[in-house]
Amino acid sequence: MSYGPIEYERFDSAIGLNWYLVDPNLRFLMDRYLPPERRHWAEEHLVRWGALCGETIARRSEVVDKSPPRLERYDPWGQEVCRVVHHPDALANKRDVWEQGPHSLQARGEDVPPVLGAAFTYMLSQADTGLVCATGMTGGVADLVSRYAPPEVKARFMPRLLAASFEEGWDGAMFMTEVDGGSDLSRIATTARQVDGDRWLLNGSKWFCSNVDARAIVTLARPEGAPEGLKGIALFLVPAVRADGSRNGIVIKRIKDKLGTRSVPTAEIDFVDAEAYILSSPRAEAPEARGLNRMMSMVNGSRLGVANMALGIMRRSFLEAAIYAAHRRAFGRRLDELPLVKETLVDMALEVEAAAALVFETYSHSGRRGDEESRRLYRILVPLAKFRAARKGLELASQGLEMMGGNGYIENFPMARQLRDAQCHTIWEGTENIIALDTVRAIVREGAHEALFSRLESALERAAQPPLRRARDVAAGALTQAREAVSFLLNADDELRQLHARRLSALLADAAQAALLLEEAAQEMKQSGSARKAAVARLFVRRRLQSAPLGGIDGDRTVLRLFPAIVRHEPLEASALDSG
Ligand SMILES: Cc1cc2nc3c(=O)[nH]c(=O)nc-3n(C[C@H](O)[C@H](O)[C@H](O)COP(=O)(O)OP(=O)(O)OC[C@H]3O[C@@H](n4cnc5c(N)ncnc54)[C@H](O)[C@@H]3O)c2cc1C
Repeated sequence: MSYGPIEYERFDSAIGLNWYLVDPNLRFLMDRYLPPERRHWAEEHLVRWGALCGETIARRSEVVDKSPPRLERYDPWGQEVCRVVHHPDALANKRDVWEQGPHSLQARGEDVPPVLGAAFTYMLSQADTGLVCATGMTGGVADLVSRYAPPEVKARFMPRLLAASFEEGWDGAMFMTEVDGGSDLSRIATTARQVDGDRWLLNGSKWFCSNVDARAIVTLARPEGAPEGLKGIALFLVPAVRADGSRNGIVIKRIKDKLGTRSVPTAEIDFVDAEAYILSSPRAEAPEARGLNRMMSMVNGSRLGVANMALGIMRRSFLEAAIYAAHRRAFGRRLDELPLVKETLVDMALEVEAAAALVFETYSHSGRRGDEESRRLYRILVPLAKFRAARKGLELASQGLEMMGGNGYIENFPMARQLRDAQCHTIWEGTENIIALDTVRAIVREGAHEALFSRLESALERAAQPPLRRARDVAAGALTQAREAVSFLLNADDELRQLHARRLSALLADAAQAALLLEEAAQEMKQSGSARKAAVARLFVRRRLQSAPLGGIDGDRTVLRLFPAIVRHEPLEASALDSG
């Protein structure tokens, strides 16, 4: 189905629009991935959420960035209270996300497919990626508590974590990083002493604690007597308020003065005899057993969340750039009539759709417990999605800012904040290097590449229509190269594997994006006859997988010809594309 052209010249700004209705590619992805029986039901919620994010939340987010949360460490009587004071607009945003987002649908007993939750997050992060961080960890904490907490702890926490009302709810956070390092968790020095049963006391410092005033925190600590290194780390749940109702021993020392993501308070804290509950299995084993593994299951979900947040910034950057270019004039023409501007917008649109293809495919394999193929696919797609989207988020934010010329650099235009925020995605939940090493780990330890290659091969098999064939052959060639690279590295020593981890991740991400776009193109041609996605996929393959003689300087004007279809979503018949 074709959704009709987007006339950017009719919009004053991205804020104020319905971010679902203005995004035909998102609607396409919902058609592609949502179960048909949930599609109609989901539409109503997507439209509602698109309006909330684009109109209300986005407007407030601009205010919150300029009035970030502050720490009130002591009350007027000198009592230590460690209270975080938020701007009223920040609280209104948090309430709206809690009471109108996927959480509220779940609280009402609705089953929310992961791809639908992803669509909500994608739209929210276009408004404020910091807000996604502040509100997005509760689900992961609830998952850990429901699986591993002792029954009485579960009974106390779960109703709060799943509460429908913001006032009654307890939100989540995850404190892992210590001053000596975030990538290398074997250095964790926070200690845990067992008091009785499942109750422990934690002591130590955490160095990066986002959403620091959360009510339910998961953290890592080393039980007394546990071995050194990763094996000795256990997983704990720390409430903001002790079981007896008193404030827990969490001393917030300072809210960090950050480059971006200012809406979410990220702080340095001390645990001082902080009451905690171990999230261990009831089996008779060491308390620290599998602590890190369990934490990493939440981290993996958060990494995909970060990929999606970066995708949101990519989309916002494209939308802002397209609107600005449709209004601003230079040399007697609208910017979007100028060849270089057209090319920039086309390239941005390609990157957004290629990243979206990877991110939404990954979500489609999330939570499929018991399906080993899907589990391995998800295992490798998560680092690939984060690797690609985080870096491209930063690039597109920079391009979107530059489209506005000098205005882009100024804080009362929208792109400066997006660029500041985008930088965070290559760092939190694992830096780019750590993510690339995780791709290698998924291959070496779990053979996850086999699941990836077979999924991509079947995607390419579906791309059989004549206009897709040449691009499909190029993508198949890239896949063969990726196979050979993996085989080579499987036989290499660890040093060499690490050295090539980034290159390998890039190779696999390119191949995956190309194959998925071609599959999307085949699906669109089959279902609606539109060749728009085919144009996107072909151009992406040419840009990313083929090298052109003379650096691409030739008589080809495809980019200019396809601008209306790719950027403005004007209809494109298959006959407009040659059969190659
Ligand atoms: C805004 C913000 C919010 C955050 N919120 C949280 C939070 O809520 N909870 C939390 O636990 N953490 C949080 N973090 C911390 C974040 O997860 C860490 O900063 C990140 O994991 C990197 O750890 P590090 O800062 O200690 O860097 P380091 O581990 O010291 O890394 C420094 C550099 O060395 C590189 N490096 C390290 N090891 C390797 C390797 N083996 N091979 C190649 N290169 C390597 C890294 O890529 C990086 O470039 C937050 C960070 C930021 C910026």
